[in-house]
Amino acid sequence: MRSEQDDCTGCSLTGTLRQMPTCREITELVTDFLEGRMGFADRLRFRMHVGMCMHCRGYLRQMRATVATLGRLPDEPLPDAIHNELVVRFRNWSRT
Ligand SMILES: [Zn+2]
Repeated sequence: MRSEQDDCTGCSLTGTLRQMPTCREITELVTDFLEGRMGFADRLRFRMHVGMCMHCRGYLRQMRATVATLGRLPDEPLPDAIHNELVVRFRNWSRT
């Protein structure tokens, strides 16, 4: 009896449907899914998992909202200009 994945329907079904990605894979694939960089079969498996797993459904919804807010995916590094600006501001702030 394994209990650590009991709260995740997608994970407990993964053993039965061997083609199904795990929750960990879903989180890794979500950017590919949202950017449409996924093959048909992978998309199908992704959707199947998300359809059955409320955790991944929540994660996908959150990612969609993030993309909608930022206008792009958040896995890109901060542009240098913004990064430098933040560093300068932080330095000034800690000095005062
Ligand atoms: Zn899941």
